[in-house]
Amino acid sequence: MNLYSALRAGWPADLDATAIDSGGALYSWRDLESGSAMLANWLGRLDLAPGSRVAVHADKSVEGLMLYLAVLRAGFVYLPLNPAYQASELAHFITDAAPGVVVCAGRNFGWVSKQAFQRGVRWVFTLNDDRSGTLLDRAAQMPLAHEPVARAESDLAAILYTSGTTGRSKGAMLSHGNLLSNAQTLQTFWDWQPSDVLLHALPIFHVHGLFVASHGALLNGSRMLWFNKFDATAVARRLPEATVFMGVPTLYVRLLQEKVLDTKNIRLFISGSAPLLIETWRDWQARTGHLILERYGMSETLMLTSNPCRAEDGERVGGTVGRALPGVGLRVLRDDGEACAVDEIGHVQVRGPNVFSGYWQMPEKTAEEFTADGWFRTGDVGRVDANGYLTLIGRSKDLIISGGFNVYPAEVEGFLNELPGVGESAVIGVPHPDFGEAVVAVITPSGQPDPEALIRELKGRIAGFKVPKRVIVVNELPRNAMGKVQKKLLREQYAGLFT
Ligand code: ATP
Ligand code: MG
Repeated sequence: MNLYSALRAGWPADLDATAIDSGGALYSWRDLESGSAMLANWLGRLDLAPGSRVAVHADKSVEGLMLYLAVLRAGFVYLPLNPAYQASELAHFITDAAPGVVVCAGRNFGWVSKQAFQRGVRWVFTLNDDRSGTLLDRAAQMPLAHEPVARAESDLAAILYTSGTTGRSKGAMLSHGNLLSNAQTLQTFWDWQPSDVLLHALPIFHVHGLFVASHGALLNGSRMLWFNKFDATAVARRLPEATVFMGVPTLYVRLLQEKVLDTKNIRLFISGSAPLLIETWRDWQARTGHLILERYGMSETLMLTSNPCRAEDGERVGGTVGRALPGVGLRVLRDDGEACAVDEIGHVQVRGPNVFSGYWQMPEKTAEEFTADGWFRTGDVGRVDANGYLTLIGRSKDLIISGGFNVYPAEVEGFLNELPGVGESAVIGVPHPDFGEAVVAVITPSGQPDPEALIRELKGRIAGFKVPKRVIVVNELPRNAMGKVQKKLLREQYAGLFT
């Protein structure tokens, strides 16, 4: 098998139909096929060892997506990197992954190629988001046909570095079989239709935009309205032409600020990658009439749970991430390893054909994160209700232990967000001489928040040990490219508050 061939099997008979519309530049299915063939033929010429990594540190473009398909076809391992990574970050990834090829934006060629060549990389090409670059120049000379290299299901297709929210990014090794099984599961569960049109405005260096979104459309042979960058006004303008939209929560927040939001042709709004505030979910329903479908996944496992799409699969419940997807095993365990009761908070563990084989060059870390009976420890904390719906409470690394009591940041954030003057909140634990850790809330203002009044208000609503000792008002919470709040940074910044 080869994941490319499986995706290709879903394309329409008329290969001249439009596959991707990128700001009015139209790409047919034939363009995707021949473009990725030319790139695969070029990669095949480079005399790379089987399993070589092709690292891509480039801005989003349709040609970048073709390059991903080409790497699959040629049987190499795709390794996307956030183009925002600077020299010291890139040095780590190149050293760790030892790619055979690095592809970067032309403007970065100087420093990226220096880093790459110093670390033994043989080939560095450029790829820009305006259809230029040395990679395309070389591929332009290549034949338009290419026979995908046969791969076993367990052969690596991609190494996806995790977002680095809780520590240093780790390379999750994903096989052709992992990616295909998850794409097929989502095609059915989200009820992809022949007539669907996906508005694609997410980055393609991350699981959400690259796999969940692109695979969804490619496997189903559905057209994409493609945006290299997210611009709320531009996206809102083209929403009427789309039937499916996928976003991280911040995209929904930004779209809500648009004056014109015509969603009548949309079949499905999907959110994931970070917690979607219930307020946003409700505002979206009030504004558009749509219930956003929230789902949960990670680089290591692809998608794990989802709220229902079709009515016969149940109700869409805001604030939850839905039930385990078909074929995915999900359990929630106490600290002592016993199964949690219904609604009891514990550690989320999963297994299934979608779960990765391990972290790149980290056998000990891999061993630590799998249980003796083969389940993967997600590092997320949550509870499952009587209907099987999972609610995520936070990450085990963000759990605060104050004076010996467990405090779940998401619970405190939920109460804070309801209070006047509070925009968003991030609750963290910082070192404290008496309590071990003290609860601290960092909030953004919505009006004129009064920290002392907020603390007094919370004292009437939750147990004293959960109430923040300090409320700090900032203009913006630090977020990464996927809109995830960087609590690690906040903990570092406020580490000295009580010591
Ligand atoms: P790192 O593992 O390097 O600390 P990361 O976990 O943020 O970074 P990703 O693999 O991109 O890296 O993200 C997976 C995590 O994102 C999940 O473990 C979960 O904590 C969070 N997540 C994904 N979807 C949701 C969701 N719908 N609601 C809340 N959190 C989510
Ligand atoms: Mg993680």
